[in-house]
Amino acid sequence: MKKLLLPLLLFSLKLSAQNAQQVHQKAILIDTHNDVFSNQLINRFDLAKRQTEGNFDLVRAREGGLDAQIFSIWCGEKYGKGTAFAMANREIDSLYALIGRNPNKIALVRNSAELKEAVKQKKLAALIGVEGGHMIEDRMDYIDSLAKRGMRYLTLTWNNSTSWATSARDEVTKKDSLPHLGLTDYGRQIVHHLNELGVMVDVSHVGERTFYDVLAATSKPVIASHSCAYTLDPFRRNLKDDQLKALAKNGGVVCVNFYSGFVDSTYTAKVLAFLQQHKTEVDSLVKIYHDNDLANIRLNAIYKTESDKLRPPLSMLIHHIDYIVKLIGVDHVGIGSDFDGSESFPLGMDSVSDYLK
Ligand SMILES: [Zn+2]
Repeated sequence: MKKLLLPLLLFSLKLSAQNAQQVHQKAILIDTHNDVFSNQLINRFDLAKRQTEGNFDLVRAREGGLDAQIFSIWCGEKYGKGTAFAMANREIDSLYALIGRNPNKIALVRNSAELKEAVKQKKLAALIGVEGGHMIEDRMDYIDSLAKRGMRYLTLTWNNSTSWATSARDEVTKKDSLPHLGLTDYGRQIVHHLNELGVMVDVSHVGERTFYDVLAATSKPVIASHSCAYTLDPFRRNLKDDQLKALAKNGGVVCVNFYSGFVDSTYTAKVLAFLQQHKTEVDSLVKIYHDNDLANIRLNAIYKTESDKLRPPLSMLIHHIDYIVKLIGVDHVGIGSDFDGSESFPLGMDSVSDYLK
């Protein structure tokens, strides 16, 4: 009996792998969150060529069967009035330059018809998402300007709150000292304006209060461009079951984040010990990159063998996808890798080339 079972099992595994490949090739694979352009200003990698560092380039995107990528336009909270909007535009310039140099490989798209056309022409369909409300510097005309350049979603906050919306981090850590909680009237006006322009409202990073305020204010479905399930990893900006259900009721989509810290609840403690151990190098890297996240990405690359030991198994990431699909249905679940925006991903998920593995 055992002898029979093994070939049967192998046969069915082979079949399911083949099916997975077929489904993968047939489907349009969209990743709703990649931060490569916030690193690009520092690293200056030619993203048309295969790179040995980082998670994205056009060669590996093709290998992984990636059809559409929403590129996150992001800068940290030290940027603000007078600097953040300019930084957003510099990153968009970098994307435009990549497209200009490689018109046969990548195209900027603004809607589903253009996206399908780019996929048909075997080009990567590139879309723009702006991550962090601070990048609009409280100005409606800056929203219009970014929308004209291709912005298809605005993540209302990053980890830092704006004067009109509170973030997940601040709602948890500064609750009593916050000048306001959730969306202000101006925040509601911003949501309405985004709705009118057809720019998606992204609720990844926003606090729970802002999340529900947004759902009450929006006339369109929203997106959580890179978030995981709080029940499986109670990190403050993962989404609780009630939030996931409310998002589905709104017609929205949650795109599951691959970051080890949002997938595996034991990761953060392990990585803090790792950073402490390499504190001197971290301090020098922060001086070079002027940003903790970018410094951590570099440190993980330098100490790859060591940092690999901190990564969760791929099955944990799949579990988040399965869990949310079972809770709210497959129509409401997508992929938002956070590649190039985080220092660690589950084992086997090293770059955009790994979607097919
Ligand atoms: Zn993010």
